[in-house]
Amino acid sequence: MLVFRKVTDLQLFLQRQMAKGRQVGFIPTMGALHQGHLSLIRQAQTQSELTVCSIFVNPTQFNDPDDLKKYPRPVEQDIQLLTDVGCNLLFLPSVKEVYPKGGQPGPKVKLGKLAKVMEGKFRTGHFEGVVQVVHRLLEIVRPHRIFMGQKDFQQFRIIGSMLEQLKSSVQLVVCPILREEDGLAMSSRNRRLTPEHRKRATIVSQTLRKASELLGHKPLPEIQQWALQELATAKGFRPEYFEIVDGYSLQSLESFHKKDLVVACTAVWAGDIRLIDNMIWQNEDFLYPKKGSQNIS
Ligand code: AMP
Repeated sequence: MLVFRKVTDLQLFLQRQMAKGRQVGFIPTMGALHQGHLSLIRQAQTQSELTVCSIFVNPTQFNDPDDLKKYPRPVEQDIQLLTDVGCNLLFLPSVKEVYPKGGQPGPKVKLGKLAKVMEGKFRTGHFEGVVQVVHRLLEIVRPHRIFMGQKDFQQFRIIGSMLEQLKSSVQLVVCPILREEDGLAMSSRNRRLTPEHRKRATIVSQTLRKASELLGHKPLPEIQQWALQELATAKGFRPEYFEIVDGYSLQSLESFHKKDLVVACTAVWAGDIRLIDNMIWQNEDFLYPKKGSQNIS
């Protein structure tokens, strides 16, 4: 695997590859890689001749300086994992390389209501930072496709909206959540859970699943209330939100129709670690590799 730290070196290499007609698949990450990240690389490999992964802990999307400081950065281990999975290129830039002095500000896109709910409500400025970095990375890499995880459903939806507003030709492919055997959604932050909290963390996916079984039996606001109470029963756990939303508008649903994309999203504090998870309760056909891939923007 080739490792590039400089924008110009990466671009020179990629330009030559693209001139030969190679399709480029891009997977942006913040590192501390796990099987969930690697599943994105594997999916990218099925649709691209060249897979480019970036590892960049983007300071502009952290609203909590302590979270940024403590974000794990096991770079050597990450390089090994990417090499083993057969990733072709790693882009490992510094902050200065991504945001050079006098560089362009982020794109002019309207996030509107998409960024005011859930993560956007509790992590002020987070999505502005995400849009800024993804836009900048796309400008650097210029891939044909970008692969993102359902794990960050709201992020995926917002990037979809950004691409649509910018009339970008980049295809956004979203891949399902990879989970640990006990159901916990894989996350770089899981390694910071205490052993007790790690054991209890199964409550998050279990609640999403059990709540889905109430669909059709109880009104959605009641299911939401039940889930919030359930999540609070685990010692040391504090739910921040549990929302049942329309997967396009991300606005809360009071009821739904057959054609609606229904997604339950939650954020829960386990001690001082914040876990997010979601489950698509209806119409998950757009996931890749489920039934093909498509842009839902
Ligand atoms: P991150 O390094 O947390 O910024 O994540 C990089 C990409 O990996 C994002 O598109 C995430 O949605 C995706 N991702 C994170 N966790 C998982 C998971 N458990 N399964 C699948 N994709 C994931």
